[in-house]
Amino acid sequence: MNILLLGSGGREHALAWKIAASPLLTKLWCAPGNAGIAREAVCVPLDIANHAAVIEFCKVNRIDFVVVGPEAPLAAGIVDDLAQAGIKAFGPSKAAAQLEGSKGFTKDLCKANNIPTAAYRRFTEAEAAKAYIRSKGAPIVVKADGLAAGKGVVVAMTLDEAEAAVDMMLSGGFGAAGAEAVVEEFLTGEEASFFVLCDGEHALPLATAQDHKRAFDGDKGPNTGGMGAYSPAPVMTDAIWTRAMNEIIQPTLRAMRANGTPYKGVLFAGLMITAEGPKLIEYNVRFGDPETQAILVRLKSDLAEIFQAISETRLGELEINWSNDSSACVVLAARGYPARPEIGSVIDGLSLVQESEDIAVFHAATSRGPNGDWLTAGGRVLGVTATGENLEVALSKCYRTVAGIHWSGMHYRRDIGRTADHGPAPAG
Ligand code: AMP
Repeated sequence: MNILLLGSGGREHALAWKIAASPLLTKLWCAPGNAGIAREAVCVPLDIANHAAVIEFCKVNRIDFVVVGPEAPLAAGIVDDLAQAGIKAFGPSKAAAQLEGSKGFTKDLCKANNIPTAAYRRFTEAEAAKAYIRSKGAPIVVKADGLAAGKGVVVAMTLDEAEAAVDMMLSGGFGAAGAEAVVEEFLTGEEASFFVLCDGEHALPLATAQDHKRAFDGDKGPNTGGMGAYSPAPVMTDAIWTRAMNEIIQPTLRAMRANGTPYKGVLFAGLMITAEGPKLIEYNVRFGDPETQAILVRLKSDLAEIFQAISETRLGELEINWSNDSSACVVLAARGYPARPEIGSVIDGLSLVQESEDIAVFHAATSRGPNGDWLTAGGRVLGVTATGENLEVALSKCYRTVAGIHWSGMHYRRDIGRTADHGPAPAG
């Protein structure tokens, strides 16, 4: 099978690494990829927003299958366009990608199907939103309806903050993504990410993970794309796992089928495990980054075979095998990330890292200098990922590997996985 992977981050490096191990693979391309992904795939400088160019590339290079990493091309309908050209792809259609592309769409779907989530209202007028906020009180959460690169959520601890967020969003602070705002109840509990594979008919829970969104130790500093993750998530006990499937995932998939827009791909549910049980915070219609790095090092099954089965609606026949190990991923970021990351620093020690069956360094943003040096090329640069018989062992392998890597301004969190209680083994 010839496979084209779209994307360029640490998530895509982990996907490329796993796909490259498949006996079904003839050749793997990645567009645009990065210098680390180039170890697993032939990287091509295609503009993935240009669907016609992607289709042309697939035809010329006899691509059998396209794997879409990030959400933007999914929301723009790349899977529909590829299907029209007769090319199979992993990911939801444009209509099904609304589960991430419109928070209002998802909240209405939850309400209509009794799916537990925060109480909410949708607004296009600032005054009405503010009146609702004042009637509910703080803390309260204000969200831009559309895709805002992970920045469209304000968890407001005061009324002033919430009202300022409404003004910012509804006056164009997030462009078209913020033309509508969702104001919702503040939920308390522990968060977990739950990944489920779907082929439109069947759902196969994949694994659980927890990530660390804030830039600095102790959950301090600004929100980031994610500074680390670990899998499985101890908070997802068997009972919570079953409730999440029965109360959240299955009703969503039934509703999508009933709407004539069956969901195919990976459904990533951000959950809050509250005192009343799991509630949906949000859906993403693609793999998480860096959760994917932590999850794929535990996956024993062939990922290319799984993707193929999903595109052929054969997920029901498949059994997925996992290692019993735990895993962790520690993200190494550049000085200034997330606001203004410094790029172009020489990374020392990377070529000396001994990667093995239980340690992998996934590249999120690297390039090669003229004399072969590894250089930083973005905010999140590397994801040092390891497995071990328990989380502590996995974490100590990660941090031992991190100690051998250095560049000027490199920073990372030293408390990845610390929030996990190391109690009884959870599901997934
Ligand atoms: P989202 O982009 O929707 O995942 O939101 C980003 C983060 O905001 C989540 O990971 C939560 O930590 C927080 N958040 C979102 N919605 C809520 C809510 N209703 N209650 C409390 N925290 C929330």
